[in-house]
Amino acid sequence: MFGKHIKLPKLGLVKTKVSRPTSGRILSATVSQTPSGKYYVSVCCKEVKVVTLPKTGKSVGLDLGIKDFLIFSDPSASIENPKYLQNDLKQLVRFQKSLSRKTIGSCRWNKARIKVAKLQEKIKNKRNDFLHKLSTRIIKEYDVVCIEDLNVSGMIKNHRLARNIADVSWSEFIRQLIYKAGWYGKEVAKVDRFFPSSQICNICGYKNSEVKDLSIRTWICPKCGSMHDRDKNSAINILNEGLRIVT
Ligand SMILES: [Zn+2]
Repeated sequence: MFGKHIKLPKLGLVKTKVSRPTSGRILSATVSQTPSGKYYVSVCCKEVKVVTLPKTGKSVGLDLGIKDFLIFSDPSASIENPKYLQNDLKQLVRFQKSLSRKTIGSCRWNKARIKVAKLQEKIKNKRNDFLHKLSTRIIKEYDVVCIEDLNVSGMIKNHRLARNIADVSWSEFIRQLIYKAGWYGKEVAKVDRFFPSSQICNICGYKNSEVKDLSIRTWICPKCGSMHDRDKNSAINILNEGLRIVT
């Protein structure tokens, strides 16, 4: 790799836009073309030194939200939703409709096809950017990150939840958290998927089976009288259970 160029076998020097400078020894390079016609070179490196991040002494529990992407047990944390995707997704539907009306193989069809592919790439890139920034921020800020070991593919079958979960790429996010924790010397604790995180009162430990109903957003503990926000309470329980597992 030389500045803004990369040397590829047979092709020689090719002008590139570098997304991230490489470090370590380059093992291989893979050239791919996206459906919209862009070329990408991904470079595989060895012996990349990663410096572990300083410990902060903080832990967090994360709950998957339907309206919000994530709910933190930490009251000071906030999370912005990838709402900007909404407009792109609406436009994608329009582009796909227009594509479906064209004769397959025609010149107009091909133009429409590229339009769809370009927008799909844009959405994917935005989403990945969102997930990467968020996972890095969390790993920097907390030493132990407790999450629910969710059966995401099972949830996607449940149609009402499907769109949201697919949109926000929960499983990709978990994957990033785990490998980044490995890089930076942090820990991810996975809480069993059958742990009733939303039903337990995080103050007194009472289990309220009535809260199983997803439409209940807030509830008052019949035993100790604490008022709970469904998701926040769940995140706190995930934190406590996760810490119990790792220590
Ligand atoms: Zn209680």
